[in-house]
Amino acid sequence: MSILVYIESANGKIKSSSLELLTAAKKSEQSFFTLAIGSITSDIKTLNDYGVTKHFEFKDEKLSKYNPEIFAQAFLEVIKESNADVILGSSSSSTKDLFPSIAAKISSGFIADGTQLKWDGARFNVKKPMYAGKCFCTVEFSKSQPQMILMRPNQMPAEPSSKVVTEVISKNLQINDFKTKVLEIVKGTSEKLDLTEANIIVSGGRGMQGPENFKLLEDLATTLGASVGASRAVTDAGWVSHSMQVGQTGKTVAPSLYIACGISGAVQHLAGMSDSKVIVAINKDPEAPIFKKATYGIVGDALEIVPLLNAEFKKLLSL
Ligand code: FAD
Repeated sequence: MSILVYIESANGKIKSSSLELLTAAKKSEQSFFTLAIGSITSDIKTLNDYGVTKHFEFKDEKLSKYNPEIFAQAFLEVIKESNADVILGSSSSSTKDLFPSIAAKISSGFIADGTQLKWDGARFNVKKPMYAGKCFCTVEFSKSQPQMILMRPNQMPAEPSSKVVTEVISKNLQINDFKTKVLEIVKGTSEKLDLTEANIIVSGGRGMQGPENFKLLEDLATTLGASVGASRAVTDAGWVSHSMQVGQTGKTVAPSLYIACGISGAVQHLAGMSDSKVIVAINKDPEAPIFKKATYGIVGDALEIVPLLNAEFKKLLSL
């Protein structure tokens, strides 16, 4: 059995969500190799540390922007060359587009939204939420090959293993006759760090009373080195960008700390953040459903409590 892990980078470094996949692949004790597409600075030292013996990369300026057609072409080339039985990726805006399209092209089975990956000696079993996180199911492949799996980020540990020397196979792609042209990728301006990668998230809901009060959350986020998220009520109202939405129809996050300010805790919001390690809820309604999920709850006015918390954290962190 051989496993191909698709790795993504940010600012020249391999994303922690990709390192989680490398750790899971290594633990399976099957042979595994990696693929990177784009003008990323492949962090070969990290690949050494995570036990990657073979790494395929397409390093071309023309691949610096995600293009579904071109990326699929590059991916298919490596799938063919490597004869991979399993293809692992981490959920991101581009992989959620890329993986199903490749699965359709090669008539492969595809599991999305995995939260737990278990090797049973012959195949991966994937645990994933259903009905907006109300229940979980475990899915396994019967016979389709290769098997494509997308895992949610921040669900598994990322641990370096035995150091190896990675063989890097640089590939070139003929980029001529493609029909799709990506002109620009517009990133959310208020998002400091991709929410799915953030270790701490300060999130605001309708209880923040208006867009002007998100400044309080941004200040707290700056103190904590966090990203700012939001509920759909807030993004729909146009208070903040849709890229900040957490939940069933937004981003799925699992940071170490999630601070929910003025968020009621509707099931669709919980679907996107209930895997957070520690949840702090600030809400003036003691009966708000968010308190059922919260590790710590503060009943009170978020507009008063958030600045107080910020001042305390600043003192603690000597800022
Ligand atoms: P509200 O439910 O209005 O809650 C505001 C909270 O703030 C209340 O609990 C109130 O007590 C508290 N509050 C008020 N003033 C203060 C104050 N001064 N200080 C402290 N607390 C205060 N929602 C998402 O978030 N993400 C999704 O991805 C998502 N997808 C959806 C998909 C579908 C198909 C549907 C039908 C809905 C979806 N929703 C989603 C919407 C969801 O059902 C809720 O409507 C939404 O999450 C509510 O946002 P909220 O908690 O900010 O607002």
